[in-house]
Amino acid sequence: MFGLIGHLTSLEHAQSVAHKLGYQEYADQGLDFWCSAPPLIVDNIKVSSITGQEIEGLYVESCFLPEMLANRRIKAAMRKILNAMAHAQKHGINITALGGFSSIVFENFNLNQIKQVRNVQLKFEQFTTGNSHTAYIICRQLEQASQKLGIELSKATVAVCGATGDIGSAVCRWLNARTDVADLLLVARNQERLQSLQDSLGRGKIMGMEEALPLCDIVVWVASMPKGVEIDGASLKKPCLLIDGGYPKNMNTKIKHPGIYVLNGGICEHSLDIDWKIMNIVNMDVPARQLFACFAESMLLEFEKLYTNFSWGRNQITVEKMEQIGEASVKHGFRPLLSF
Ligand code: NDP
Repeated sequence: MFGLIGHLTSLEHAQSVAHKLGYQEYADQGLDFWCSAPPLIVDNIKVSSITGQEIEGLYVESCFLPEMLANRRIKAAMRKILNAMAHAQKHGINITALGGFSSIVFENFNLNQIKQVRNVQLKFEQFTTGNSHTAYIICRQLEQASQKLGIELSKATVAVCGATGDIGSAVCRWLNARTDVADLLLVARNQERLQSLQDSLGRGKIMGMEEALPLCDIVVWVASMPKGVEIDGASLKKPCLLIDGGYPKNMNTKIKHPGIYVLNGGICEHSLDIDWKIMNIVNMDVPARQLFACFAESMLLEFEKLYTNFSWGRNQITVEKMEQIGEASVKHGFRPLLSF
């Protein structure tokens, strides 16, 4: 059995989902309540592969909200993730994906040093961040969507916002090794980490977001921002492909400019319907088929019986690992989302 640990994008979103699912005691409550709420299993999932294999899984809602980071409720955020992991493990799950901010909180606050959660001894090898598959799907989205739009990578300027992050650095490595992009712009805040990424890639220009955006044919957004930023569509090149892989979204604007194409990043489509209700809740266009690539990674590891933390730690995703999980992805019937 596989597991998915997820969370909602804001307090408002969480309240409306709780209302829809009939958890009225959660629906009327503010941040304090969500800080103390225990994890909940809210979905039983069945997935079939195009190979004919069938697997089952559980969705664990951690009750973490990005506002906990913005409002300095760090201890609550840490508790949410550890409790959700212990809950998944108690339910006999073989491999569980830490979706969205779960793995970011785990890494940023060194939760690998806390192995005991009440009577549960956490087995970290049963968890994966899902970031190798997410980075792979984003790179395939970039390659395939740019081709569709007639943007030639050999002449294109590509910015990665969140370049020094786990997903961002993997995307940079892939672009460097597997494509002939003309110019790679590296965007993040910490200059030391940017410098060391640039050194390891042997290329890339370090730039601020505002300086970089007007120069780009393609922007990959993978910054861990609790709230999205406003973008002025008029200042961007046309055509421009924007791949927003953030959860919550990095871009707070719905850009409706001719020549600007926004793609939901890090999302894949399955070839067969998945029996679940959870993707209705995060407003996927085709909830039975579309899902976060990190969740798909735990399904792929279950299909392949690879009960190992395939993606773990920070900035260690290699192109070979992305290719390996990419092969499993194709084999079992997943493909990158390409509809604008
Ligand atoms: P990391 O924490 O590893 O990296 C975040 C990156 O964003 C760093 O480079 C960080 O650098 C940068 N960053 C953070 N804030 C800002 C800012 N205000 N301006 C510019 N850069 C910023 O995160 P991950 O790589 O694990 O995740 C990235 C995003 O992808 C998150 O939104 C996450 O929720 C989402 N995600 C999506 C998945 C999917 O399946 N679609 C799966 C997993 C994650 P610095 O701090 O120096 O600025």
